[in-house]
Amino acid sequence: MGNSTENEEKIKGGLLQSDALYNYILETSVYPRELEPLKELRDITAHHSKAWMGTAPDAGQFITMMLKLLNAKNTIEVGVYTGYSLLLTALTIPEDGKITAIDLNREYYDIGLPIIKKAGVEHKIDFIESKALSALDHLLKDKEKEGSFDYAFVDADKGNYWNYHERLMKLLKVGGVVIYDNTLWGGTVAMSCEEEVPDIYKSNWKPIFELNKLLAEDPRVQLSHVPLGDGITICRRIY
Ligand code: SAM
Ligand code: CA
Repeated sequence: MGNSTENEEKIKGGLLQSDALYNYILETSVYPRELEPLKELRDITAHHSKAWMGTAPDAGQFITMMLKLLNAKNTIEVGVYTGYSLLLTALTIPEDGKITAIDLNREYYDIGLPIIKKAGVEHKIDFIESKALSALDHLLKDKEKEGSFDYAFVDADKGNYWNYHERLMKLLKVGGVVIYDNTLWGGTVAMSCEEEVPDIYKSNWKPIFELNKLLAEDPRVQLSHVPLGDGITICRRIY
């Protein structure tokens, strides 16, 4: 496998076979409609050493539509980084909407915070600096929080996605939606054994591969596995 810069370039791109086609989608349908604060946040994040972690803008555009269709008001964000998906959620939900945003690293959030403040949506965000598992368990201690969330976006440590899923199945209301990011893991989930997987993708290959099987078998959710960005899995709680 090539050097890390090349690998990061690979992680940054979409999953389509043709880069030209992916760029066509971005240039034609995504960037012209991207709100100014999101553009600004993407530009600032582009200079950060882990810029590839930001949510893909084509997936972001889809999430914005999903939030509107759901009429989402009370949401959870697991894995904030500089806040691209957080900001698009804050810009989309109503004035009195709330986002419980969890990340173990506040320094990343602080990079995007001036843009969030300038956009006038900071009041919708309750940022919790914590490991996500303990933060979700803490939410569940409050019985009133059970079944109270309309939507969640999960984009943190892949090895815990299933643990997050178990908690979110209690926190989301029936009819609520959780979206898991990176569920096609650069396309490597189609490889039949770990030995075939390029080194850069090895660390989280197995957890994502196993997660996809578990989610597909989970009767609690309606599911759609969509090749947007690095792959997203949309789960709607049905009971
Ligand atoms: N959704 C973000 C965006 O649009 O820019 C990107 C999130 S980034 C891929 C993953 C984030 O998860 C990082 O900021 C990292 O600090 C955080 N993270 C990793 N493990 C975590 C954990 N166990 N608990 C909470 N946050 C975690
Ligand atoms: Ca991601």
